[in-house]
Amino acid sequence: MDNQNRTIAYLKFVDLNRMLYVFRQNHWLPTQGASKNGGWDAPDFPFRGHFQGHLLSAWAQCWQTTRDPDCKGRAQTFVAELAKCQANNAAAGWSRGYLNAFSENDFNLLEQGSLKSGVPYYVVHKTMAGLLDVWQVFGDDTAKKVLLELGGWVDTRTSKLSTDRMQSVLDTEHGGMVAVLTDMYLQTGDKKWLTVAQRFEHQSVFTPLADNQDRLNGLHANTNIPKWIGTVREFKATGIARYRSIALNAWNIVVGTRTYAIGSNSQAEHFKAPNAIAQYLSNDAGESCNTYNMLKLTRELWSLDPTNVSFFDFYERAVLNQMLGQQNPADPHGHVTYFHSLQPGARRGVGPAWGGGTWSTDYNSFWCCQGTGVETHTKFADSIYFHDASSLYVNLFTPSVLSWTERGLTVTQSTSFPVSGTSTITISGNGSSGGNTQSFVIKIRIPGWASGATVAVNGAAATAATAGSYASISRAWVAGDTITVNLPMRFRLLPANDNQKLAAVAYGPTVLVGNYGTTSLTAAPELQLGSLKRTSATTLVFSATAGDKTVSLQPYYDGQGFNYVTYWSLQGSLPG
Ligand SMILES: [Zn+2]
Repeated sequence: MDNQNRTIAYLKFVDLNRMLYVFRQNHWLPTQGASKNGGWDAPDFPFRGHFQGHLLSAWAQCWQTTRDPDCKGRAQTFVAELAKCQANNAAAGWSRGYLNAFSENDFNLLEQGSLKSGVPYYVVHKTMAGLLDVWQVFGDDTAKKVLLELGGWVDTRTSKLSTDRMQSVLDTEHGGMVAVLTDMYLQTGDKKWLTVAQRFEHQSVFTPLADNQDRLNGLHANTNIPKWIGTVREFKATGIARYRSIALNAWNIVVGTRTYAIGSNSQAEHFKAPNAIAQYLSNDAGESCNTYNMLKLTRELWSLDPTNVSFFDFYERAVLNQMLGQQNPADPHGHVTYFHSLQPGARRGVGPAWGGGTWSTDYNSFWCCQGTGVETHTKFADSIYFHDASSLYVNLFTPSVLSWTERGLTVTQSTSFPVSGTSTITISGNGSSGGNTQSFVIKIRIPGWASGATVAVNGAAATAATAGSYASISRAWVAGDTITVNLPMRFRLLPANDNQKLAAVAYGPTVLVGNYGTTSLTAAPELQLGSLKRTSATTLVFSATAGDKTVSLQPYYDGQGFNYVTYWSLQGSLPG
């Protein structure tokens, strides 16, 4: 909630005229005295204008989560201004439907194979995804019209290219074009959009993945993860099994062989060889965008296989550790870090200059990870509960109130997780049928780390609660029924795949870091595992002996403002 509130404060602060500057300039409209932005939205930055699509999505999510009318108003106002830009294309010399903050000539150069810098379709995807969100969430007709016009421009442009030429276009990063175009098909029922989506299938990446071959070494990570989200959406639209295989194989490869303890992946934005973890614990490990996209991919794949706990075990690991820890809690606008350094003595918000080198800022950063960041920190509520015809799934342990209008029920979850492993889930309301009871199944994820878990209803043991499975409670629920979930928290080791003596330490789901203040380190300290102990019952604070010193440990997500250690050289064994 603190993270969400800080990001929403930024979303309600950011100046709309400043954010419109590069769009208005490019579409030959007055910039209305607005100041220019810096960073990746500067008027001379090759792919300026990508952040604005994220803003549209984040405003929509803000409204979905909080019903804040200011977020709704900002989203709809911004879309109306973008519509004016698009409507001025004849004067600006652009083709019908084009909407962007840089020259349409970049697409000519891209198609000719002579684009020197920039990622044109990556930016178009952000704008389209934001417009689609505003259309879907608010029923905004302007967003619909602008999106369909822009989609028409994409169709016209790409329909003229040979298959080979289009594949060469796809060698340049193009974000989630497959996903957003498939979603336009699902939204409109117009098959044209599925045809356009399929033009963006990047076969040199998809073909080996369809055969479950790992060819990720050397690929730019965040260029590719959105493509796999696209294939899940295509599977949902078409039922073609190959699409699902591509996404599922990619997920298994990345989570199994390329993922660090905190749920992050990549080094210097790139996938390395399989299981090469220990040698890449550097200051530019774990780009934030990759995990934003892995989380999207994960919830899509889970929805196709909702008995499989491993998807939300990963989701919990990545959202609780890396994503929650991405923000600077000292900043009222919730600014974020690009990379998540895992080197000994790392400091959050410090990285290489090309990745920002610090926390993001109000108007001088606008990196990719700031864009995905404003989305991440406004959607913590979107993956706690799911339902199908017969079941309610509880996938995350987060204090929350679910207003389940279809059944006329309210489900309230009270917990201080992960400080405590207990969560209490209470049913209230009389049900839409007007009767006193409703029969359905509640399925609670029992994480793979939670052996010895218990689930009770109204104080009596209710069902088996096996780690790595769903505890299913089938019952005629009555208002006042209370489920108590107890997940025993223990120390766990999360070793590097390629070095079992180098590991992160977790307590239940929470990865811990050692607090080294301002001390510089050049190697992973030796942690005496047997010395680990929790020193507070009410907060996650721990102590241990590392080298010849006593060190304080706390959650990775709270690891800002000091030098920290995530991966340790191990000595001895964990306390029993
Ligand atoms: Zn990024």
